[in-house]
Amino acid sequence: MNTARAELGAVRLEELRFDNHYGRLPPEFYTRLSPTPLPEPYLVAFNPAAADLIGLAHTEAGRSEFAEIFCGNHLLPGFDPLAAVYAGHQFGVFVPQLGDGRAILLGEASGARGRWDLQLKGAGMTPYSRMGDGRAVLRSSIREYLASEAMHALGIPTTRALAIVGSDQPVIRESVESAAVLTRVAPSHVRFGSFELFSSRRQYEHVGTLADHVIAQHYPHLREAGQPCLELLREVIGRTARLIAQWQAVGFCHGVMNTDNMSILGLTIDYGPYGFMEGFDWGHVCNHSDDGGRYAYNMQPGIAHWNLYCLAQSLLPLIEMEAAQAALDEYEQEFEQSYLSLMRAKLGLATQQAEDAALLQDTLKLLHDSRADYTTFFRRLGNFNSAADANNAPLHELFAQSASYGAWAERYRLRLALEASVDAGRKLRMDRVNPKYVLRNYLAETAIRKAADERDYGEIERLMQVLQRPYDEQAGMQAYAATAPQWASALAVSCSS
Ligand code: AMP
Ligand code: MG
Repeated sequence: MNTARAELGAVRLEELRFDNHYGRLPPEFYTRLSPTPLPEPYLVAFNPAAADLIGLAHTEAGRSEFAEIFCGNHLLPGFDPLAAVYAGHQFGVFVPQLGDGRAILLGEASGARGRWDLQLKGAGMTPYSRMGDGRAVLRSSIREYLASEAMHALGIPTTRALAIVGSDQPVIRESVESAAVLTRVAPSHVRFGSFELFSSRRQYEHVGTLADHVIAQHYPHLREAGQPCLELLREVIGRTARLIAQWQAVGFCHGVMNTDNMSILGLTIDYGPYGFMEGFDWGHVCNHSDDGGRYAYNMQPGIAHWNLYCLAQSLLPLIEMEAAQAALDEYEQEFEQSYLSLMRAKLGLATQQAEDAALLQDTLKLLHDSRADYTTFFRRLGNFNSAADANNAPLHELFAQSASYGAWAERYRLRLALEASVDAGRKLRMDRVNPKYVLRNYLAETAIRKAADERDYGEIERLMQVLQRPYDEQAGMQAYAATAPQWASALAVSCSS
């Protein structure tokens, strides 16, 4: 990022311009309310890249007002705070009413780079808090902050994060933790569950109003389509298929793919007990609370399809059943094509051959059987020496106990030979798609412990720097590519956040 240029024309907090299109929808869509004040807030993390999106000068983070504003204590002119209501299928069970239980939409900051929802996550109770306290803990706020920016740097659509503001106010989870507010930035926070709410209530006119809103604000090119709502569904299906293909390719597990956590824009949203695949396991379940493994890694593509059925169902007042079904039938092919194309690139293959899908399956089986580190494998694969007598020791080392490695390596070598692949050029291409650095759980945990125990936020900063350039070799940062140390083997993440 060119900071100097991005800063040109950047403004002070008071000069930001706000609107709130969501707030102009009928009152059934939300509740207007103010955030609950948080005592003695302080800045924990500030993300200049997200500030650039809204045209905010980076120096503004240094003002005491910044923390007061982005924990919800002080409202800027133009803010129009509200909590949105939605419904959703949680672990396959329909819940008629959910909503922003602890998130408050402040409004849309509008600038040269478009309109961006600013949402405070952890800003206090709302009418949709159910049993919750309306708060988020520092731990989970750091996890979302790092993950959303890491995903963005990997080229995966996601909500962004502007800042974390902390407070010493205690929040009770499994143990006593401290409160924090994350400022989330996204073009929209509308979820599949937003449609399900009105459809389940048989408020079909609101389903139409919401579809019109989403199309007008986020899919304006569909306005002229013969059937805009059908086209909307098709676009969401396509975006979701491509998003999940990216998740699978990078080894991202979301953990809670409920329909209220599915974005109408095909963004990764609501980071909770997510995880980046380490030792490869098809059935990896990153969420400790997911006993049945509903959201296991290899379930994600099918679950997204199921979730799209829920969305389509809620749009049935507006579109023909047969057309919806036909649109849903396109999902699988879109996913498979996107996934295979991403994986071909990860394998360094420049041409398409009929055997590629089988080679990929066998590659993943090799990884699974040895629980080889997913990210390390692909990064090392970039150095594959395709000479017949090469031993590729660093790669082989990942499969020390495996009898299948030799045969697999020979097959891969022959596949490369088939397209006359040149080692040096292939490595360059592969290093641009196989990240060296991903947000391993233990890396996040290290940053969290430093922040929570010592008020040292430097590790969040360092980790962020590394994750913002995941494909680059970074001098002195080798340790951040290492697999988990022994102490981290017992780390577990759950829905508690
Ligand atoms: P999630 O699956 O984590 O996105 O959360 C599901 C629902 O629970 C959402 O409607 C959240 O707003 C709500 N929720 C989660 N944690 C809390 C909390 N601490 N206080 C109030 N509501 C919460
Ligand atoms: Mg959620």
